[in-house]
Amino acid sequence: MSTFQDLGLNDYLLQGITDLGFEKPSEVQEKAIPLLLNSEEDLVALAQTGTGKTAAFGFPMLQKINIDSRTTQGLILSPTRELCLQIASEMKLYGKHCKGLNVVAVYGGSSITEQAREIKRGAQVIVATPGRMKDMISRRLVDITKIEYAVLDEADEMLNMGFKEDITAILSHTPNEKSTWLFSATMPKEVAAIAKNFMHNPQEITVGRKNESTTNVSHEYYLVNARDRYQALKRLADANPDIFSVIFCRTKRDTQKVAEKLIEDGYNAGALHGDLSQNQRDLVMNAFRKNQIQMLVATDVAARGIDVDDVTHVINYQLPDEIETYTHRSGRTGRAGKTGVSMVIVSKSEVRKIKSIERIIKRQFDKKEVPDGMEICEVQLMSLANKIHNTEINHEIDKYLTSINELFEDTSKDELIKKFFSVEFTRFYNYYKKAQNLNVAEGSSDRDEGRSYGGSKNSTRYFINVGSKDGFDWMSLKDFLREQLDLGRDDLFKVETKDSFSFFNTEKELQEKVLAHFTDFKHNGRFVNVEVSENRGGGRRDRNRGRKKDSRGGGRRSEGRSSGGNNKRAKSGAGFGASRPRRSRR
Ligand code: ADP
Ligand code: MG
Repeated sequence: MSTFQDLGLNDYLLQGITDLGFEKPSEVQEKAIPLLLNSEEDLVALAQTGTGKTAAFGFPMLQKINIDSRTTQGLILSPTRELCLQIASEMKLYGKHCKGLNVVAVYGGSSITEQAREIKRGAQVIVATPGRMKDMISRRLVDITKIEYAVLDEADEMLNMGFKEDITAILSHTPNEKSTWLFSATMPKEVAAIAKNFMHNPQEITVGRKNESTTNVSHEYYLVNARDRYQALKRLADANPDIFSVIFCRTKRDTQKVAEKLIEDGYNAGALHGDLSQNQRDLVMNAFRKNQIQMLVATDVAARGIDVDDVTHVINYQLPDEIETYTHRSGRTGRAGKTGVSMVIVSKSEVRKIKSIERIIKRQFDKKEVPDGMEICEVQLMSLANKIHNTEINHEIDKYLTSINELFEDTSKDELIKKFFSVEFTRFYNYYKKAQNLNVAEGSSDRDEGRSYGGSKNSTRYFINVGSKDGFDWMSLKDFLREQLDLGRDDLFKVETKDSFSFFNTEKELQEKVLAHFTDFKHNGRFVNVEVSENRGGGRRDRNRGRKKDSRGGGRRSEGRSSGGNNKRAKSGAGFGASRPRRSRR
């Protein structure tokens, strides 16, 4: 086992490594760094996500370029904006002690002139997405004719995303004598072709398994109303009792919110996003690796480093802003020769994106129905039956057998089985017996969805004269109302707190009960008044409020609470706890 010193890195870089806390090189680093430092040959390196590829090419590049010069000498192409930023920031950390080093990230969706200006100041290294790089070249905003080192990072992903022409065009502007280093998780034909056409007798290193592809991932989508997204997620999880999944949300806030809700609902869930400390992230990742977390809710950036092989499902809770990112998400499953499923929960307004994704991944989606309550009960029951069938008997039980037998003396085997299974089944059954169909027909109108922000045909919207001034946020108000009214978790929705008042919804059939409970009702010595909201039909004011709340999501939740910690169970006695079965992994 070698150290970073052994690999031949200079003192400036070793200092950076110490600052970063890297103790020893990873396998791909151990193999690639000496090779790249000591020769000018091309390289093809195959290694999974999270194996430390950035440092494997980053350190040698930083050591080999001339930092005293302001000429652009290194070009790193990478598939997405997120990765670009990530690589650029890692490179800056690696080279923290290399005085005068200038690394610039170049990617779409941000000012091209600003990026050009940064490059003009003298960028020795440019990290770029192919699309933006090509753009800059054609506008003559960048000069890559003196490049000595070109890196194609995540080459397979770049080709998957249709960047072949862009890459070809970019490389045609670089000198022939440069060294090209290609890094990829897999080696499909297209990557092999790039290696053959653009590289000269490359050396090859492989870490772990070779040639995995994502063709063993199937793609499904589920069309629901936006407000049913979370319910749909739960059903997908419940219909797959052995799920071991990564769930993608668009923002850190949504990621945290969904994870917290899942934890509250008794699932083994955790959050992974950039607002967590490194330590919190490590805890969550460790729990996930050990299968203690079944549902890891993550942002795209945070999930980039997930190197877990047996993920059964990827769930797109929301589609990514850039549909290209979908490839990255679905690539978290179907690894190491296993099969995987990538599911998308999609609302009417975004369903057309499915078609665009199909074009990008060159695969078809199956439109699936969100399972109904009874299907889920059946799946859970059969899963339990299988589990029991496969359970090894614990003979510690033997000594109690006499008294147990006595108790069941008059119970037939048939009856005993029925009773035994009812223990579990009834909990699911009670939860799901009144569950509604969450599916939306593809051609139906969008209006119901909009209206659901206010009252609708089946639900009532209420006004209540307490709000954040009284110390409530939407979560605590929901808890308060649930407790007061003795309601299940899903009986209350669209809880929205304002300064001195709030809104919430229930199903219409609960209206009488709600209003009766809050007649002459006092809380902390003051009258609390609940009325049916006037904006019943989804009037503009109320709807806008709904939107606002939606876009701000759970941000109102008090901060300190759960950092997406693992394995936290719902508080006992929380109304819902009784009706929603606890989860246990395998
Ligand atoms: P890849 O590109 O192979 O997916 P990255 O280069 O992004 O992997 O590295 C994954 C994570 O591992 C990063 O957070 C990085 O800082 C960390 N890392 C890389 N090399 C080492 C090392 N030798 N020791 C500890 N952590 C490392
Ligand atoms: Mg990488």
